[in-house]
Amino acid sequence: MKTIKNLLVVCFALLALGVMASCVEITNCEHETGSWAANAEEHWKTCSLCNEQVEKGAHNFSEYEVISKPAVGVEGSEARKCKDCGYIDRRSIPAIEVETGVAEGDFAVYAKVPADWETVNCYYFGEDKNALANTVSWPGAAMTLVNAEENIWGYIVPAGTGYVIFNNGSAQTADLLFATSLNYYVLREGSDGKFVADYDLYTPADDQPELNKYPSEIAEEVKYTIYAQLPAAWTAPNAYWWGGKGSDGWPGNALINVEGNVWTIDLSEAATGLIFNNDGSQTGNIESLQGLHAGNAYIVNDDLSVVAANYENGVFTPLEVEAEIPTDCYVKGGMNNWSPVAEYQFAYDAATDSATLTIDLEADVEFKVTVGPEWSIEFNAGTAQYNAEQFADAGGNIKCVAAGKYTFTITDVTKDSRALTIVAAE
Ligand SMILES: [Zn+2]
Ligand SMILES: [Zn+2]
Repeated sequence: MKTIKNLLVVCFALLALGVMASCVEITNCEHETGSWAANAEEHWKTCSLCNEQVEKGAHNFSEYEVISKPAVGVEGSEARKCKDCGYIDRRSIPAIEVETGVAEGDFAVYAKVPADWETVNCYYFGEDKNALANTVSWPGAAMTLVNAEENIWGYIVPAGTGYVIFNNGSAQTADLLFATSLNYYVLREGSDGKFVADYDLYTPADDQPELNKYPSEIAEEVKYTIYAQLPAAWTAPNAYWWGGKGSDGWPGNALINVEGNVWTIDLSEAATGLIFNNDGSQTGNIESLQGLHAGNAYIVNDDLSVVAANYENGVFTPLEVEAEIPTDCYVKGGMNNWSPVAEYQFAYDAATDSATLTIDLEADVEFKVTVGPEWSIEFNAGTAQYNAEQFADAGGNIKCVAAGKYTFTITDVTKDSRALTIVAAE
């Protein structure tokens, strides 16, 4: 037994020696290392002979470089790189917060535009897309060049401005929300052919030229007084109209009571369309019914049908108006610049009072269908009938989801019961 114990002791001693020997070997290892390994804080290499981590240390970062600029509501990102191991450290840049709203007084706006824009106009309108009293007509007023090198232009918009559009007469931005907290619009190409803007802050130079400004002379608006006999249940009616300066945004401007159910309001002489409404109930677009200036009055029946009339000495006299029966129907959309084009006109058949059109549609194209001139009668995503796998509602526009050949059919074209269906063509 004792012999065995002694033997064990010897063995352990030998083993210990062996371990010591290998310790000596570690200290002497001429490490062989390959590529860097890293975590967020440190980098190191691992010796392929002894497995030790060597050259371990904190990253030696460069300055952050912007990878993608933040935009309004969209985070950006930036990154820095370790100069030793190449480790890339990314972080997000907070989205730009921009307060949008309405200019409370004179407000200088600046736009950095593409280098090939030689003159720059500023067009502006109110929060509800209504025209302001001192609006300039499209394409807007000439801006003042304030920095030729950077192509930065300035202009002073009036109180009430809720949107701006910058343009050079042909290329233009989308309707840009007016920023109340920032004053600088840096244009870049958008996805739909119109420019969009990144908002920023611009500090004018001390010797900046005087900026062009909205017209101080407000063009006298010619008013056109109309009267309306409205349903008795209507107690707070509004008139919404377009053309000329237009009314304020929906539901329009309050009518003034004359007596009983007789109301009046001054429209712009240049108004081209009108809708009466009261607490959720409304007439159709009146331009498509009688022609706006046929008389000076309208009778709105309880079923919301409208009859043109003359109003004199407290009496409404209906006008004998031949209803204009529109039969020219078009698909208007992204594929034809939203304008009536022969290729997209329906064939009208008087015998059946129906119209048809078969066309090829590409995916993602958006459109509406109109009956009669302009947009007086239109079918949109809410009123057209289609297969939800082929078309979708894109903010009221009908959007083609599945490219293909489609047949459009409008029945009862000249009647109020008109209906549109879109089906895949055989
Ligand atoms: Zn080693
Ligand atoms: Zn590193």
